[in-house]
Amino acid sequence: MMQDYQSPWMDEDLAIFRAAASRFVEAEMVPNEDRWRKQQHLDKSFWRLAGKQGFLCTDIPEQYGGGGGDFRHEAVFFEEQWRRGLSGMGQGVHSITAHYILNHGTDAQRQRWLPQMASGDLIGAIAMTEPGTGSDLKAIKTRATREGDEYVINGSKLFITNGYLCELLALVVRTDAAGGARGLSIVMLETRDLPGFKVGRILDKMGQKSQDTCELFFDNVRVPVANLLGGEEGRGFAQLMSDLPYERTQVGVQSVAMMEGALAETVAYVKGRAAFGASLFDLQNTRFRLAEAQATAHVARVFLDHCILNVAAGKLDSASAAMCKYWTSERLQQVLDTCLQMHGGYGYMDEYLICRMYADARVARIYAGTSEIMLEVIARGL
Ligand SMILES: Cc1cc2nc3c(=O)[nH]c(=O)nc-3n(C[C@H](O)[C@H](O)[C@H](O)COP(=O)(O)OP(=O)(O)OC[C@H]3O[C@@H](n4cnc5c(N)ncnc54)[C@H](O)[C@@H]3O)c2cc1C
Repeated sequence: MMQDYQSPWMDEDLAIFRAAASRFVEAEMVPNEDRWRKQQHLDKSFWRLAGKQGFLCTDIPEQYGGGGGDFRHEAVFFEEQWRRGLSGMGQGVHSITAHYILNHGTDAQRQRWLPQMASGDLIGAIAMTEPGTGSDLKAIKTRATREGDEYVINGSKLFITNGYLCELLALVVRTDAAGGARGLSIVMLETRDLPGFKVGRILDKMGQKSQDTCELFFDNVRVPVANLLGGEEGRGFAQLMSDLPYERTQVGVQSVAMMEGALAETVAYVKGRAAFGASLFDLQNTRFRLAEAQATAHVARVFLDHCILNVAAGKLDSASAAMCKYWTSERLQQVLDTCLQMHGGYGYMDEYLICRMYADARVARIYAGTSEIMLEVIARGL
């Protein structure tokens, strides 16, 4: 971040919250990251602790156990992780799952699940993507067939963030074989000891090594009809669409925080590295390339701040959210490439932050809707 720039959405309370988030991340995440990367997931006990200390569901109303804040609080906790290259906690999908419940659930559903999500006793995940379909959500095949007071669910989901740890799954299913998008619904699954629910292995990814991304299987899983989100079949697609700006801005927050973290790290590195009788920073090429990257990161920050304010006010339109996700995630690749280049061979070593960030960042152009899908959304408004 530019030294004299202050995001217009920050205030005194948020500064106190940021200091607490920063201390929490340093004390509870940084020392565990290498171990988490090896085991490919965070500890459940960490999630419980994050809940206990008030870092989960910060933008869910207090009456449902949340922090009573807004998207700015989510952004602060997100930024403190991502600028340090910590990509393992699926805070984003946890919060999205909570928002689906808040915005589309019945009051009984909100009362039942949100307090447990806020305390970290239920780790959330959302499962849309299947082996046969990702971008084309209308082609989802996982089937929920009603039998009396239950749905019987069969199918599988792929690339699910928090898949290994999740205890409350927002599962997108087909409740009407003939219905196209109108045949989709979201059913909430409490996955602990749920017969027929199986978590596949944690997938080996290019980056985000401490994040538990999994395949999930459903073999005659029985769920009470009361777990249908909102209590009305066929609303799934509309429910998903209405919360996309929130999810896409989260990726913008990740992307900009990573740019800023990577730039700070790289500037410090090149200032300390001697070459040809001076520091790397004294070479004009280094200064120009980093100045370009800084300009990119700052422009991204200003647009992101505009989007954060609008999400917090509940009025970000889908085209702007798509622009935010598209532009920041694409630019992130360029900025990280520059930062890695400035590190020379060290930048290619996994123990260096820049190397990890480079690998972590690639998927920002793919998940939460690919760059191509973002361009489709933007083009619709032309
Ligand atoms: C690390 C990770 C975490 C993820 N987490 C989750 C999660 O928690 N929950 C979840 O449900 N999913 C998750 N996903 C899945 C992710 O959202 C999908 O991978 C993504 O939406 C793309 O779908 P796909 O992989 O099937 O690719 P496809 O849809 O097959 O796309 C392949 C290529 O074709 C392009 N393409 C497709 N359609 C069009 C079009 N109409 N016009 C132009 N180009 C097009 C795409 O842009 C892409 O370049 C995750 C994925 C990863 C890698």
